[in-house]
Amino acid sequence: IPVDPFDLVIFGGTGDLARRKILPALFRRFCSGQMEDESRIIGAARSDLTRDEFRQIVAEAIAEFNTSKDCETGTVEAFLERIDYVNVDAKGEDGWKELSDLMIPGRVRAFYFSVAPSLFGPLAERLHAHGMADADSRIVVEKPFGRDLETARALNATLAQHFDESQIYRIDHYLGKETVQNLMAVRFGNMLFEPLWNSQYVDHIQITVAETVGVGGRGEYYDRSGAMRDMVQNHLMQLLCLIAMEPPAKFDPDAVRDEKLKVIRALDDVEPANIVRGQYGATKGAQDYAHDVENPRATSESFIAMRVNISNWRWAGTPFYLRTGKKLKARSSEIAVIFKETPHSIFGAEAGRHRNILTIRLQPNEGMDLDVTIKEPGPGGMRLIDVPLDMTFAEALGPEGEDVPDAYERLIMDVIRGNQTLFMRGDEVEAAWAWTDPIIEGWETRGDRPVSYEPGSSGPEDALVLIHRDGRRWREIR
Ligand code: NAD
Repeated sequence: IPVDPFDLVIFGGTGDLARRKILPALFRRFCSGQMEDESRIIGAARSDLTRDEFRQIVAEAIAEFNTSKDCETGTVEAFLERIDYVNVDAKGEDGWKELSDLMIPGRVRAFYFSVAPSLFGPLAERLHAHGMADADSRIVVEKPFGRDLETARALNATLAQHFDESQIYRIDHYLGKETVQNLMAVRFGNMLFEPLWNSQYVDHIQITVAETVGVGGRGEYYDRSGAMRDMVQNHLMQLLCLIAMEPPAKFDPDAVRDEKLKVIRALDDVEPANIVRGQYGATKGAQDYAHDVENPRATSESFIAMRVNISNWRWAGTPFYLRTGKKLKARSSEIAVIFKETPHSIFGAEAGRHRNILTIRLQPNEGMDLDVTIKEPGPGGMRLIDVPLDMTFAEALGPEGEDVPDAYERLIMDVIRGNQTLFMRGDEVEAAWAWTDPIIEGWETRGDRPVSYEPGSSGPEDALVLIHRDGRRWREIR
């Protein structure tokens, strides 16, 4: 279904994020027929380019980063017809008049701030000064949204001077993943799971986001954040909220976000003994973390594992184990809900003890598994085995489903539709910082340093101990 005609201005249109994610995502939506003929995409950045030069950049970005095989409703050339460019200085006056002259009244206006957060304020101010933003305009902002509570509050306050909360779309691309939305469909669209979704039946929950890459070219940026700020405060926190929240009364933006906020507010402080931080070491041909970030005294973590408790009626007594890191053994992200064992086994001790595990895979192969216990086939008596009831979305959705839409496709179209459900509200972001700040401050005042781990492993030994101590083990990263 096509969305209403729109003008989407991408500030930072020549940048890495625009080229890798935003523009290819828009191309795919164009291919699937979602963009009306009048809709336009206007790149706005500091480089002095002509429209044709920018179109060339867009064509190259599509050639390099678009994974979709074919385009049903047009060609790259037809898409490029929709593209315009203005050389704009976020901090000066250059280009603003030209940009404002390009805007066509009466259609949806969205401004994507794909630039450093220090430019959010100047951009918002100039959009208003030049009369480009009206009560229905939307702005999209990227992470990082602050580096602590104070800076996040300041950013929220700056944006609030010019835009209402209902106009601000804070992207966390994890929320745009098909499986993450399916998590809500599975929880609240079935009778099967919700009655068991509590500490009486769930032993514990594991959330893992494992990467095989190191810090790459982002060393300097990464070292100022570390895994806690770069991954836990936003992405893992969002996953935790969706898995732990109470059923919202409706699938509407504020109903969902109110429930997520309650989860964050119910999080206990985390004792130092319940956190393990790591930095990857060197291997043959590859340098260690400190070399990669060019800081011999680097104290940020490229790995973190923690045990988190949610103090509310539903979850008291069920720990959540979170883990994320770079240079681990496989690129794999999943949420696993590990149910308790049956209270009694009628099959005797030799049948072993078994339990159901619901796994929500974010990558690779987005999908879900439910491990159930069945009888081992054959004449060997009543021996039990655990087998997965597997639902890989590509299979479940048929040929069209082979291309699971990229998170950015979904999220950008939601901006145009005016649906904020999958975007973070300002108070959520602040609550998440309010929880992470004391943890980070604790490391700084105590002078804690991350422990080293072997690249290609599952992380530091201490992380294994963290969960073994509770008589549990991590799921294998594969
Ligand atoms: P980048 O450095 O590649 O691009 C920056 C863009 O901003 C360029 O188009 C540049 O022309 C423009 N710009 C810089 N100063 C400007 C000014 N004064 N006026 C107008 N335009 C100006 O950055 P990026 O990697 O594309 O990241 C953009 C934002 O998205 C950052 O906030 C970053 O933290 C965030 N982000 C990036 C990624 C990623 O994968 N690259 C992922 C998540 C979030």
